[in-house]
This record gives sequence, structure tokens and C-alpha cells, in this order.
Amino acid sequence: MRRFQQYIDGAFDDGSGRFDSIDPATGAVWAEMPEAREVDVDRAVTAAERALWSGPWAAMTATQRGKLLYRLADLVAANAQELAELETRDTGKIIRETSAQIAYVADYYRYYAGLADKIEGAYLPIDKADMDVWLRREPVGVVAAIVPWNSQLFLSAVKLGPALAAGCTLVVKASEDGPAPLLAFARLVQEAGFPAGVVNILTGFGPACGSALTCHPKIAHIAFTGGPGTAAAVVRNSAENLASTSLELGGKSPFVVFADADLESAANAQVSGIFAATGQSCVAGSRLIVEASIKERFLAILKSRAEAIRIGSPLDMATEVGPLCTSRQRALIETVVEASLKAGARLVTGGATPGTSGFYYPPTVIDCDGVSAASVETELFGPVLSVLSFETEEEAVRLANDTRFGLASGVFTTNLARAHRMVKRIRAGVVWVNTYRAVSPIAPFGGFGQSGHGREGGLAAALDYTRTKTVWVRTSDDPIPDPFVMR
Ligand code: NDP
Repeated sequence: MRRFQQYIDGAFDDGSGRFDSIDPATGAVWAEMPEAREVDVDRAVTAAERALWSGPWAAMTATQRGKLLYRLADLVAANAQELAELETRDTGKIIRETSAQIAYVADYYRYYAGLADKIEGAYLPIDKADMDVWLRREPVGVVAAIVPWNSQLFLSAVKLGPALAAGCTLVVKASEDGPAPLLAFARLVQEAGFPAGVVNILTGFGPACGSALTCHPKIAHIAFTGGPGTAAAVVRNSAENLASTSLELGGKSPFVVFADADLESAANAQVSGIFAATGQSCVAGSRLIVEASIKERFLAILKSRAEAIRIGSPLDMATEVGPLCTSRQRALIETVVEASLKAGARLVTGGATPGTSGFYYPPTVIDCDGVSAASVETELFGPVLSVLSFETEEEAVRLANDTRFGLASGVFTTNLARAHRMVKRIRAGVVWVNTYRAVSPIAPFGGFGQSGHGREGGLAAALDYTRTKTVWVRTSDDPIPDPFVMR
């Protein structure tokens, strides 16, 4: 059985408790994880605060910070296969996807390595002749970075990269489900040469470990990715320390297909949007909104694609859909699909849990037209597509926006003017036109409404990890004039 350790203040240890990690492909225990409790969290935050204000990190130039990030990027690239195998083993996410994603994670670190010495302050053209005034951009402080179980290396990179470029120090909390890759990544942080305390990586149970971290008085910013319910608890916790927050939450993203679209291409994108990562993706295009005149034709294509998907061991490069990460998640999916079918939705394909070990659920399509089905509203985080249809563009817009979420969306049409109208009218942080599920370190990412606030990726994300200090310098040798009049 593999044993993992937590990383605090530049050293590895076993944590205050231990817990088992389950292999989702078999349902069996495969590794033992360190459980961080309040005392471990406090040690980590204290180390991060010390590293922020004193020692080598505090004294480094931005260029030196960038060099450390470049080194980390190279190490991630060199160890991508090993990290991918760990993520696949611990979360069930297929190796085909984890290999490609982790190789790309290196590019996120490279992007922010290059940005480190381009985070500039400003000189202000102040309206007083005897003053020089400028803004310094300083790190916001100690950051609590919290990630969910899917794509932990990717979701931590979009926090660590900009925060380290900005000069912050961090305590990263991996999810208790599938923490192996992030705990293993800590060795690369150490090898890259980040001083002790700059990056601390631990895991533990959400309410205990997560609350201790988000309430901690020394935390200045909380970068959270997870579900909206947990986000509400995190925001309540931040009332204790008044930390700022950035929240990347869930979605129920619309995937709108007009009759003039290239249907083969749209079907490929829809398959990627809902069945890739076994649907465990925050941007899953889980609501297909298709023009009524092509609905049956499009569903026939989707049905044949879904039924041809290779389901199997996530460690097999040929597998296209693996298990869900937890049995808890599968139970939610089963309940909601069953309730939706009972409410009158029509099963197009899938829907039955196989009798194998492991947390498998098949690619599923449900036609929910004219039915009030729970699957249309609930984020299932699994391979389940709910289908609705429309007659007019107005109706397509209304259905697309009929959600409390607003993370991502897709529009498929060959009509350029219509594509632009849809881009303007859809309420979501990302609109993909004639494509889906594309990401880049250069492009900001984040949601509207219950999908959260703040953006990850791009220059603005690095600025979010800074705060400005306004500096006033009087340049006159004359005595200060009337002290009772504000200047
Ligand atoms: P959760 O919200 O359950 O958990 C997210 C993280 O928060 C985990 O590390 C969890 O720890 C921790 N946590 C739990 N309770 C607390 C608490 N009281 N205080 C602080 N931290 C806590 O999400 P899931 O793990 O179920 O992940 C799925 C969700 O994440 C979906 O809604 C999905 O859409 C969203 N997501 C959003 C993305 C985006 O970029 N917008 C990307 C990927 C996922 P533990 O796991 O140990 O309980």
C-alpha cells in the first residue's frame, strides 16, 4: 500500500491522523493519506506567514521568483507521466486525459514564470506640484488554496502560478478524495528550490481542515474551487478573518445547437463536453439545447457515439470513460436520473449502473423536453446529458440562461451574425463558438452567478494576488503649510 505525506515548512510528515484512499476503478483501498487537523493547518499557515515577511522568499526579486517557477514547470513536465498515473489511480480520471492535462499544467507554470517580473506598479500624474505619488504592487499575503477532487494539479496550478508570481505564500488543501497527485507534486516544489514555508500542501476532511484554514486569522485571500454549497461555508468563514475570496464553482452549462450547424462537429464537441473526464468537469456541457427541426437526427448521432465509447480501466490508454471518483457521486447521479425518468423524461441511451466493481456509470442521454426534470437543474458531475429543444433563437437564449449557474456555454451555428448575437446574450463567463472545452493559461476563466466570481488564467489573475500601496513623497524643502487644511 502506498503511503503519502503532507508538506509543511519545507519538510514532509505524516499528519496528525491517517486515512485510506480508495481506487475508484476497484472500490478497494490502495493508499494511506496524511490527515491534517487544526494543529497542522496552524503550523502550515504560520510557516507561510513567516516565509512571506522574512527569509529568502521575501528578499527575492520578481525575476528570481520567475526562475523558480520555470524550474517547477520543467519538473512538472519531466514528471508528468508519474503524476498522471497517480491522479488516474486516485481519482479514476482516465490516463489519456490526465497525461495530456498534466503535460499542459507545465505551460501554466511557464506562463506565470514569465509574468512574475511584468507585474508593474504605476506612477500617478498627481494634481499637486510638490508631490511624487506612485503605486507599489505587493503580494496580497498568505493564500489558502482549496481544490476539489477532479484535476487537482490543474486547479492548483491556476492558483499557485499567479500567486507565486505575485510573491504570495500559500497553504494548499487537496481534497480528501484523490489527493495523491498533489501530495506527490510537493516533492517537485521542494526540488525546484522554493524556500521553506512558501508552498505548503496538505489534505484533510473538508469541514474540519477546510474550516480551520479558511477561518485562520493569518489568511489574507481564499482561492476556492468546489461546489456552491461549500463556497457559501467558505465565505461565512471568511467573515472571521475578512479574507478576500475568489470562487470557481460549478455549472450546468448550455450547449446550443442550431439547425445550420455542422452536426458531425457539434456531436464531437458535445461528446467531449459531457463524456470526457466521465462528465466530472465544471464546464460540462450538460444541457443540450437543440433546434427542434434537427433534434431527432442529432440525438441519433449522439446515441451512436455514446454507445461506441470504450468504458474500462482508467489506466488503459484506450479507455474513453472510466469510473466516477466516488460512490457518493454515483449515488447522486442514480437518484437524479431515476427521478427525472419518473417525471416523464425519455431515456435515449445509458442510465443503468453496471454490475461491476468500481464506481462506473455509463454515458447517458435523457430527453427532458416538456418535462420538469431534476437532471436539467442539478449539477450531476457525471456523464449525463439532459436534452431540451427550441423553435426560435429567442427561446434558445431563454433556455440557455434558465439556470442559477453561469460558468461556460457552447454555441454551434454557421451563421456568423447569429453567433455574435448569442455571444452577447448568453450569461456565462465563457462562450465557446463552434468548439468546446478549450482552455489556455492566457485566457481568463471563471463564472457568473452561482458559478462564482474572480478569474483564473491570464494577467488579471496575477494582479488579483496583489494589493496596491500608495506612496506619497513630498519633494519640496519648504515648511509644511497650514496643518489644519487637508492638502
Ligand atoms: P466540494 O465543494 O465538496 O469540495 C471542494 C473543496 O472544499 C474540497 O477540498 C473540500 O474538502 C473542501 N471543503 C469541504 N468543506 C469545506 C469547508 N467547510 N471549508 C473549507 N473547505 C471545505 O466540491 P467537490 O469536491 O464535490 O467538487 C465538485 C465541485 O467543484 C463541483 O461543483 C464542480 O463544478 C466544482 N468545480 C469547479 C471548477 C471551476 O473551475 N469552476 C473546476 C472543477 C470543479 P474535502 O474534499 O476534503 O471535503
